[in-house]
Amino acid sequence: MNNTIYLDNAATTPLRKEVLDEMMPYLTDYYGNASSIYKIGLASRTAIDSARERVANVLGCMPKEIYFTSCGSESDNWAIKGYAMASLKKGNHIITSKIEHHAVLHTCQYLEKNGFEVTYLPVDETGMISLEDLKNAIRPTTTLITIMYANNEIGTIQPIKEIAKIAHENGIVFHTDAVQAVGSIKVDVKELDVDMLSLSAHKFNGPKGIGALYIKRGVYPHNFMHGGAQESGKRAGTENTANIVGLAKALELATENLDEKVKKLSELRDYIIDKIQSDIPHCRLNGHRDMRLPGNVNFSFEFIEGESLLLMLSMNDIAASSGSACTSGSLDPSHVLLSIGLPHELAHGSLRVSLGYQNTKEDADKLLQVLPGIVQRLRDMSPLYEN
Ligand SMILES: *Cc1c(COP(=O)(O)O)cnc(C)c1O
Repeated sequence: MNNTIYLDNAATTPLRKEVLDEMMPYLTDYYGNASSIYKIGLASRTAIDSARERVANVLGCMPKEIYFTSCGSESDNWAIKGYAMASLKKGNHIITSKIEHHAVLHTCQYLEKNGFEVTYLPVDETGMISLEDLKNAIRPTTTLITIMYANNEIGTIQPIKEIAKIAHENGIVFHTDAVQAVGSIKVDVKELDVDMLSLSAHKFNGPKGIGALYIKRGVYPHNFMHGGAQESGKRAGTENTANIVGLAKALELATENLDEKVKKLSELRDYIIDKIQSDIPHCRLNGHRDMRLPGNVNFSFEFIEGESLLLMLSMNDIAASSGSACTSGSLDPSHVLLSIGLPHELAHGSLRVSLGYQNTKEDADKLLQVLPGIVQRLRDMSPLYEN
């Protein structure tokens, strides 16, 4: 395991030691319920209050506007179902994109089955939505626009500020799934002027099973979890103190000297992209060349299967991902790759390398050393390649 070169940071990331250290006391000594009034309960309460402030500081909002959830998927579900329900009197139309994470797409499909109408905006070959399309999709009954900040497969970053502006000019609330963006690039909710924003700790070296939803003051989605009075009475369930503390610590660490980190990681990304393009024929870079997450590399290779590629990388102790069939547990290739216009064969032959803070040039070189040979071997086995 320790020899593994981990290049799948868009799927999840390793927990940082400093984060675990700060979480530990709340998994051991301070087990008290944060809603109680004795000392060990108060320790939890204080830690949660402080974590909320720390997260708000990084995102540029008020602590009261941060709600802890169990994951990014829950944040997306809450924002979308909650706001759709709360605004039913005004209308039943939602606008999203075709390349959202399933936490958004399947939530929208669920709403469609329950009387809502959803427009799924197309994207161009780089994965960008068109602002014209967005404007044209708006109806008098549109209550919510939900568009992801950065795509988890191809890394494309959407013009969030411009989308928020269009939404607000039309009196529509705007939610963004920023699970891939937070911790990776600068995210300031006031500067972006978004109304709701989802994030998840395990995508920026925090623990799994903890997320947050930013809800701007004055925006009122229906509650999603009913029960106790936690999270200002809006999200019931005894607080996961250790994970909340871990989320705050991981976010602070991830966003410390962020400009510098973005620059370094983008350089490593571009090094890999340039090298693959020069060393491997018949390949295609997926996603936008510049409006792209600093750690995202996504290629399609003609005449090969993504799964075979992953398997052979794995034999070389390299962990990466693909948008193809088996890895996603379904027979269809990635909806994202199909949406940017890839034919099925190319979508099946894709490779996603997602870099994290722990990756080095040596990791990149190890990948670049074995990848051309693997692609060539797989092509040699393909009946299609000769032609
Ligand atoms: C990972 C991810 C999610 C889901 O987050 P979880 O915490 O795993 O539920 C949602 N949206 C995007 C873009 C993601 O990358």
